[in-house]
Amino acid sequence: MNIILLGPPGAGKGTQSAMLVEERGMRQLSTGDMLRAAVKAETEVGLRAKAVMERGELVSDEIVSALIDAELAAMGPETGAIFDGYPRTEAQARALDEILASHDRQLDFVIELEVDEDALVDRITGRFTCARCGEGYHDRYKLPRQEGTCDKCGSHEFKRRPDDNEETVRTRMAEYRAKTAPILPLYDARGIVRRVDGMAAIDAVKQGVDAILD
Ligand code: AMP
Repeated sequence: MNIILLGPPGAGKGTQSAMLVEERGMRQLSTGDMLRAAVKAETEVGLRAKAVMERGELVSDEIVSALIDAELAAMGPETGAIFDGYPRTEAQARALDEILASHDRQLDFVIELEVDEDALVDRITGRFTCARCGEGYHDRYKLPRQEGTCDKCGSHEFKRRPDDNEETVRTRMAEYRAKTAPILPLYDARGIVRRVDGMAAIDAVKQGVDAILD
């Protein structure tokens, strides 16, 4: 099974991916995570991507498609892939078709998480994660049960993404509207797009996703 989770920043792609990974043994391929790791490690790709990401603009198609290709090459054929935050442009969508074909895979579904953009700024600017295990939290909607301690792994260190500020979020939304939303008709024409209400509670969104995949 190979699926794309599509939706603007803050729609819940990462949250839903994490649950699919845990319950279905699929693999999350998040170009955002890969790029953040490259920035942290100060690789050549990271050095090129850092400023672009801080502005909320898109990194070049070649860079992200190469990252995806390398990850798929390292995966066993039986492991399903969840594309999270990729493709984000028409050129990436075309590249993904070629990459999948070269790895004998095909796309099963594109799941669009439909959300209200105004609510997203509120969601994104409050989010933070455990620095050790990556568990996601939110200042207003999901604080750790015990203040300052991760529910999942007990760590006391948390982090926030530098691009989760209002100004950058607005740019990321504009990029989504201008470059990513237009790839949906491509997949609609193939009859593989499914839509889920991304404004619902996390569990309800998950049920919607499960109903598509089961
Ligand atoms: P994300 O974690 O998916 O919100 O991505 C964070 C940032 O990484 C984006 O705002 C872009 O600057 C960059 N990025 C991630 N994925 C892509 C992609 N598929 N194409 C271009 N830039 C990307």
